[in-house]
Amino acid sequence: MATARILDFLATRRPSGPCLVVDLDVVEENFRAFEKVLPDSKIYYAVKANPAPEILRLLASLGSSFDCASVAEIEMAMDAGASAARISFGNTIKKERDIARAFELGIRLFAVDCVEEVEKTARAAPGARVFCRVLTDGAGAEWPLSRKFGCAPDMAVDVLRHARALGLDAYGVSFHVGSQQTDLSAWDRALGDAKKVFGTLAEEGIVLKMVNMGGGFPTRYLKDVPAAQAYGQAIFGALRKHFGNELPETIIEPGRGMVGNAGVIKSEVVLISKKSADDHTRWVFLDIGKFGGLAETMDEAIRYPITTQHDGGPTSPCVLAGPTCDSADVMYEKMPYPLPLSLTIGDEVLIEGTGAYTTTYASVAFNGFEPLRSYVI
Ligand SMILES: *Cc1c(COP(=O)(O)O)cnc(C)c1O
Repeated sequence: MATARILDFLATRRPSGPCLVVDLDVVEENFRAFEKVLPDSKIYYAVKANPAPEILRLLASLGSSFDCASVAEIEMAMDAGASAARISFGNTIKKERDIARAFELGIRLFAVDCVEEVEKTARAAPGARVFCRVLTDGAGAEWPLSRKFGCAPDMAVDVLRHARALGLDAYGVSFHVGSQQTDLSAWDRALGDAKKVFGTLAEEGIVLKMVNMGGGFPTRYLKDVPAAQAYGQAIFGALRKHFGNELPETIIEPGRGMVGNAGVIKSEVVLISKKSADDHTRWVFLDIGKFGGLAETMDEAIRYPITTQHDGGPTSPCVLAGPTCDSADVMYEKMPYPLPLSLTIGDEVLIEGTGAYTTTYASVAFNGFEPLRSYVI
């Protein structure tokens, strides 16, 4: 959210154009909160949420590990000071030559979700540790990752058995309950599935060691979300319920929960208009939209808190849109956004909770608009 440091930065530096400002103190607080509520889990920050070098350097210095999805992300994490032992290649969809390059860089932990990926990994990263991702339904998540990644638990057994047969270290199971997950029971269901895979393979003498519990930890947008402590308790309770006293090693991979609330986007109102004389809904056009970094407003999935200097006065529902010449560049229309009646062209607005999944989702120069600028303070 807009911390005193962020507000001070904006007031004194007055950056022109839309920009994201990230407060590193908040990232550090988030890291320590994860450490505190899940003390036995290793934290692998999901680099894709915000790969700013300052954020990666801070997290590396705090002892974080890193979940990377490409060779470029692996190199960014290494440049920030992480050793290869603290990096996983967590994308289940990789080119064989990228697996080979990661292996050359020293990476020894890889995600798979099918025998085809196991075969690539066995050729390009012989003997490496692999964990198999199982499907979750993503129910309860505002940004579900659904069917694209993972396989059914029964198939995960085959995948890991195949990995062992090809000389890989069949190391564990992973899942992701869906991003911005506010249903605490989602981890319980997924851990139940993970335990089934552990149990079946144990009967064949393949002893898995690790459960990668993924991301999904929410950040607060407009609605309240359960506190970090509630997540910690629910997850630890589910681990005990399914694994009893034989707790596996565990990993968590927070992205949004690590950086979402650390960033604020400053934007400017470009135009306020109506579509007809008797139109009650104002159209408010900002200098940032879906192509400038707010891609997660797709299907109006993520609803960011927006603050203005007129807050507290009367409001009316507005359609909120971006500045580009694409009609898809409308953020909130099905559920219009209440904004102050006194809001005027040229006003600045703050879009809060935008530290995750914004800078990397900005287009290169659609309509000539430059990619979202970012300041990490
Ligand atoms: C995106 C991603 C994450 C981070 O998810 P959040 O919901 O942002 O915490 C973690 N793990 C994997 C494998 C991912 O793809």
